[in-house]
This record gives sequence, structure tokens and C-alpha cells, in this order.
Amino acid sequence: MEEKVKKKDIRALTLDQLREFFVNNGDKAFRGNQVYEWLWQKSAHTFDVMTNISKETRDLLTSNFVINHIKVDQIQRSSDGTIKNAVRLHDDLVVESVLIPTKSRTTACVSSQVGCSLDCKFCATSRLKRMRNLNPDEIYDQVVAIDNESRLYFDRPLSNIVFMGMGEPLMNYNNVLKAIDKITSPEGLGMSPKRITVSTSGVPKMIKKMADEEVKFNLAVSLHSAIDEIRTSIMPFNATMNLADLREALQYWYSKTKNRITYEYVVWKGINDSQKDADALVQFCRFAPSKVNLIEYNPIDDGQFQQANDKAIEMYVATLERKGITVTVRRSRGKDIDAACGQLANKI
Ligand code: SAH
Repeated sequence: MEEKVKKKDIRALTLDQLREFFVNNGDKAFRGNQVYEWLWQKSAHTFDVMTNISKETRDLLTSNFVINHIKVDQIQRSSDGTIKNAVRLHDDLVVESVLIPTKSRTTACVSSQVGCSLDCKFCATSRLKRMRNLNPDEIYDQVVAIDNESRLYFDRPLSNIVFMGMGEPLMNYNNVLKAIDKITSPEGLGMSPKRITVSTSGVPKMIKKMADEEVKFNLAVSLHSAIDEIRTSIMPFNATMNLADLREALQYWYSKTKNRITYEYVVWKGINDSQKDADALVQFCRFAPSKVNLIEYNPIDDGQFQQANDKAIEMYVATLERKGITVTVRRSRGKDIDAACGQLANKI
């Protein structure tokens, strides 16, 4: 009986490894460059489309490798133009990514994990068990899919990327960084890292590691409270990765990258809507140059969390502005299709 060999995902290979594969198989190293271009720049889904490569070589590839390309299973469009993709992976798991259009920009919000291992009480994704990390090519493919949609529906390429979909990007550190490398490299999409934002719930060790690598993309931190007791009650992992550790990591980040930090912050009724909460946020912002995005809460059914009233938001804005801290109030997009922050939970 023929032994079934598990074929390798060809996009896990670097360009050098691919060149070496061809040399080892009696071909020219240059063949590796041709195939690499098909895989990354031309987003080939099969070996058969690689028309400048002989049938024999394509057969060699087919017998050794697979291309684990994602498949956009379902597209939902919101009345505000937001598009949500349900993305099927090669092992039939599903993640979501979102295209957010504004007048001048198209932003892709991409997932980094299937589910999430963190337990933020207000986030729909936290209710899904973390199944696995996404591979770099699966992250890259989500971006390419949204770039194509942006060209198709809005007649312009993708302009920005935020890692604010499902999962905690810093818990899938290596693959997220590899994906960003590919997105920013000329052999990939050639996008500027300045247009990419990685959003983390705050994993101090990984923030420091990123700082050491002097990455060029932006960092956003989902803070939601600058008081340990309150933060731990809504983001339980804060018990072990507390605000003092986070603060130290962020100071280190700034010292290395000189890149201002964005804090994502939702104000909830009765949880963090008092003057004391706003004052604590101001204190926290003092440790490193930063700005605050006050984001609207997107309800996820159980009623435990409610968006604070406008007066509380105004109090936050006034408190921050008085201390010279830049603050923006963000409206949600794509709520009618469950595509807004924290609503991604494969409810299709
Ligand atoms: N794990 C990463 C990225 C995913 S969450 C992180 O925590 O940053 C993306 C953003 O949506 C975060 O700022 C998160 O705090 C916020 N968010 C989660 N649930 C939300 C909800 N129900 N309403 C509004 N924002 C939410």
C-alpha cells in the first residue's frame, strides 16, 4: 500500500529554502524565485497556474507540497460599507476579517488566531476556545483578500492594516512578525510598516521583545482601565500581567522605538466611568508619549456591560485634554453585521 506522506505547506519555506529545493532536485536555483513570486506576489492557489514553469516541475511540486490557501467563504456587507469576510482555513476552521472603508482610506482588520486564549469579559471572541495560531501565510492571505475587495468595491488599494480581529497577536508573535515582514517586503505587498498597527491586550514580555527588534509598525494597547483591581475584574489575565509590568514594558518600547503608543479604551457604565478612572488614565499616559482612542462599546448580548453615557465620555475627553493628551472618540463600524470590535465570533 502506498504510504501517505503529509505534504509540507510550501509557503512555510523561505526563498533560500525554495531555491535549495530546486538545486537538490537537479534544477536551477532561479526556479525557486519564479515559484516564490507565484506564491507571494501573484497569490497562486494551485501549482497549475504557474504557466512559466514546466509541467514536470509542477508535478514535482504537487508531489512534495501543498498550498494552504485561505478561502473567503462568505462576504457580508454592512449598510455603512464595512465588509466582513468569513475565512475558511485548510483544516476547515473559520476566522473573520473586516474591511473598513472611510472617505480616503481602506483599513483591513485581520485575525491572528482561531479563537483566543485570553478572557476579556466584554469580548465575543474570548468565548471561543483558542484552537490554534494562524500561520504567516494565512494572515497574509486575509490582507490580500481585503486588498482585492478594496480594489473591486472602492477602486483603490488597501491603505492600512490593524491586528484587531480575532486573537491576541502577541501570543502568536513569530507568525505575526513573519506575516508583517511579508506584507512590507517588496516581494510581498510592499506596504509601509507605518500603516500597520498591532493591537495587544498587553503582554509585557512580548512588548519588550518587539521593542528589542526595533520594529517599525505601530502599537496599540487595549487598556480599558488604569486601575489594577478594575482591569483584573474585566481582563482577568491582568492578575498576572499587571499594570506596573505593562507600564515598564511600554516605557521600554518607547525608549527603543520612539513610537507613540495608542491606548484603546471603552468607558462602561458603573465600571470605569468616574473621575477617578479618568485621572488614573491620565497618570498612566504620562509614562510614555501616547494618545487615547475612546471606542464605543459593541454589546455582546449578556447586558453585564453597557456603554457609558455621553456625559462620562465628555468628562474623559475634558480630563485628558486638560492634561494635553490627544484623545479621539471612535464610532463603531459594521455593527449590523457583527463586524465591530469584539463582535467577531463566527456567528454566520
Ligand atoms: N487581542 C487584541 C486584539 C483583538 S481585540 C487586543 O486585545 O487588543 C481588538 C479591540 O477591540 C481591542 O481594543 C479590544 O479591547 C476591543 N474590544 C473587544 N471587545 C469589544 C467590544 N465588545 N466592544 C468594543 N470594543 C471591544
